Amino acid sequence: MNLDSIKQSLSLWPTELWLLFITLLGLVLASFINVVIYRLPLILRREWGETNLPEISLSWPSSHCPKCKTPLSWRHNLPLVSWLIQQGCCVKCKQKISLQYPLVELAGGSLALLIAWRFGANLSSLVYLGFALSLLALAVIDAQTQLLPDKITLPLVWAGLTWHWVFSSSQMFDQAFLGALLGYLSLWSLFWVFKLLTGREGMGYGDFKLLAAIGAWLGAPALVPVVMLASISGLLVALVLKLNAKWQGQALPFGPHLVIGCLVLLIGGQELAGWLGLGAWLEITSWAF
Ligand SMILES: [Zn+2]
Repeated sequence: MNLDSIKQSLSLWPTELWLLFITLLGLVLASFINVVIYRLPLILRREWGETNLPEISLSWPSSHCPKCKTPLSWRHNLPLVSWLIQQGCCVKCKQKISLQYPLVELAGGSLALLIAWRFGANLSSLVYLGFALSLLALAVIDAQTQLLPDKITLPLVWAGLTWHWVFSSSQMFDQAFLGALLGYLSLWSLFWVFKLLTGREGMGYGDFKLLAAIGAWLGAPALVPVVMLASISGLLVALVLKLNAKWQGQALPFGPHLVIGCLVLLIGGQELAGWLGLGAWLEITSWAF
């Protein structure tokens, strides 16, 4: 089966069926993203020397209730559905299950639907779904732990470059290569200017690698609207935190905002960039093939 026949058989799918299929796929993959969000930071901390943490991997042990250790059967592992049926509690010990699990699944399913709607029945939808779900994992991990693991950001850079190398025009690959380079260097320079002026560190190296990955996927021209959207999102949250005495002094990681900026642009596309007055930036960029 060659690529053209895959493309052709995908294009035969009726739109509604394709939207449904990708949404279900998004829900299922998002429940794996929940595992990554919970386990990867623990695996890393153990690797970095916290030997009192349990030895786990992404696949072992299988999912279980954190309190009574009852393993989850497939019926208790259905995205969203199981949580709703069990009313957010463990079936055995009635321990509350964190709202984060169904929320991440809901986010994954919604992203999948929007991407399928934006790119249509083709390979791009599947590939960008993988990209979007990796970003979702990064955003939640960064929000909770202030970490953007290299184990996700670096493969994401290479995956974006490879995708455009194999499937896009040579012009788009050049933009992707430049995007990875400028994505890293722009935040790196900003980091040093800020550090030299104020003596403080405004962001971390993970943010540079994340923007490099975004550049590798969306191309250099997209960096401007992405950083602009991320700054608007970051300022709004900073304002809310400032007005709310309870949350003052909370760490404000930038990664989740870069992810929001990237996903909003990926789904909003040329129309959104045009509306922001940044359409010219995207004119030479085409993401789908
Ligand atoms: Zn339990």
